[in-house]
Amino acid sequence: MRSFIRRYKFVLLFWACLFLAAAIMLSRHNGSMPRNSVTNSSGTDSATRSNAKAPPKMEPLPAPSQSDKAAEEADVANAITSADVHYLASRNLLIPVQGVAASQLRDTFNQARSEARRHDAIDISAPQGTPVLAASDGSVIKLFQSDKGGVTLYELDPSSRYVYYYAHLMRYADGIAEGTQLRRGDVIAYVGDTGNAGAGNYHLHFAISKPISPHGWSGGNPINPYPLLMRK
Ligand SMILES: [Zn+2]
Repeated sequence: MRSFIRRYKFVLLFWACLFLAAAIMLSRHNGSMPRNSVTNSSGTDSATRSNAKAPPKMEPLPAPSQSDKAAEEADVANAITSADVHYLASRNLLIPVQGVAASQLRDTFNQARSEARRHDAIDISAPQGTPVLAASDGSVIKLFQSDKGGVTLYELDPSSRYVYYYAHLMRYADGIAEGTQLRRGDVIAYVGDTGNAGAGNYHLHFAISKPISPHGWSGGNPINPYPLLMRK
């Protein structure tokens, strides 16, 4: 009986020790958990901090978008307004190919062209060598040969705010040079098929633009010549 109690005590003591050991281990484990989570969280913190640092590092990126914005604003400032159209309407532009009537014009301004371009001009068909006339008073700002336009002429409006562009020319008229002052109706060139017009597709490619830079002759915002030439 005594030995049973002793053994029973021993078993009790054994379980008590086991319970105590388990409790200690559990408390240790719990105690270490926060420490681990601290190091972990500080680890992830530094990771998130370095991640968080990444977006500020990206901050220089908005800078180009700001310059994009500035370019956009400049573009908006240079956008075609009703004032531009009113002014050009007041110029009473001449159909720039001799013998062509308004009823013969077709509005091809919005037609698609190669490389996702828009035509931004009108084509006026006429036999080869038909005189090309200055649509307005102005001055020859540039004589230029290009792959697409062939033999081309850029005329600056007297306001210096608009450029008239004549392309696919056969040749310039005698006496035409950069700086030549033009009167509305002057013969400036002859209809041809140079550039990408297509062999035998004789026509004048005529465009009006509002240059982005002052006195620039190329790359301005296009204005549809069709309604301006249709006016009587
Ligand atoms: Zn064209």
